[in-house]
Amino acid sequence: MPAPLPSERAFIPFVSVENMMRLVHHVGIETVLVELTDAVEADFRRWDLFDKTPRVASHSHDGVIELMPTSDGAVYSFKYVNGHPKNMAQGLQTVTAFGLLAEVSTGYPVLLTEMTLLTALRTAATSAMAARHLAPANSRRLTLIGNGAQAEFQALAMKAVLGIEEVRLYDIDPRATEKTLRNLAGTGLRLVPCTSAQAAIEGADIITTCTADKQYATILTDNMVGAGVHINAIGGDCPGKTELHRDILLRSDTFVEYPPQTRIEGEIQQMDPDYPVTELWQVVSGRAKGRSSDRQITLFDSVGFAIEDFSALRYVREKLQGTDYFQKLDIIADPDDPRDLFGMLQRAA
Ligand code: NAD
Repeated sequence: MPAPLPSERAFIPFVSVENMMRLVHHVGIETVLVELTDAVEADFRRWDLFDKTPRVASHSHDGVIELMPTSDGAVYSFKYVNGHPKNMAQGLQTVTAFGLLAEVSTGYPVLLTEMTLLTALRTAATSAMAARHLAPANSRRLTLIGNGAQAEFQALAMKAVLGIEEVRLYDIDPRATEKTLRNLAGTGLRLVPCTSAQAAIEGADIITTCTADKQYATILTDNMVGAGVHINAIGGDCPGKTELHRDILLRSDTFVEYPPQTRIEGEIQQMDPDYPVTELWQVVSGRAKGRSSDRQITLFDSVGFAIEDFSALRYVREKLQGTDYFQKLDIIADPDDPRDLFGMLQRAA
């Protein structure tokens, strides 16, 4: 994309929640999920180029607020995101986010956008990317435990990218499962509501856990997990917040985004510091093996990493071309003489 002219730099495109929804409908949600999966995968292949750091987290009794920065040397991004499992009971989202893209050469922002929807899309795309390399060949049956805000995105990405045909649903709150059934009706997926996690995992090729509870939870116990499945654990993403019994990890081959962050936040926080993991980018770029046998249990211990947000932000910036799905935000001071910032203020009096 060509760099904006100096006068245009004063205004940056801002994508509101309303405009993000228009953009997603304009492109089509399954197309967005497929294209985002490819965009995340392309950036995982150039992993070495990126600045990487565990996200900066501010923890409280109720939840966490995090900043997630990265750069590939040409473009910089960060996301502000929270995680507050107790919010739902107050009618608020567990996860909300916004993010920014900037040009490294000038440090000027080039995009500001809502990222609550975009995080759900990129998390689903990352799950699908991992499953593409780790799930059993010809996976058709997905189990979704935790039917909250992320659930439909996860199901549709697995359908669009992997060809999943059946989704078995379980949530401790039956209203969450009813909501997901309603939202996924008409997508072509065969939907099976279940009354226990045990019933939900029957015959599953892929098990996705996306629950929210600020504790060491046990959504899956060891005896529930049979040989050959792929587990996509996305809800354990914070110190003191996990979903799987540690015995499952002892039987699994575990794949992670960025080990220094995942060892703090992921399922593997329960394990010794030298518990072996494989970095997903190495699998994606052919440097490490993904699934190597039919009986292997593969686990993607997903916590969400800044490079996925970078990919999503760049994707949105590209898709905005030729549309009016943004507002111009006057966020950069632009005096005629760059040194005369005070004069600009004076003249505005
Ligand atoms: P949400 O609050 O909307 O939904 C969570 C659902 O889990 C609720 O419906 C709740 O009833 C259900 N649940 C809680 N305990 C359960 C249990 N023991 N068994 C079955 N269901 C249970 O949250 P969300 O936005 O869908 O997010 C889900 C989780 O994913 C959160 O923990 C969030 O932090 C995490 N997340 C991870 C990533 C990532 O990149 N890995 C990205 C976004 C969100």
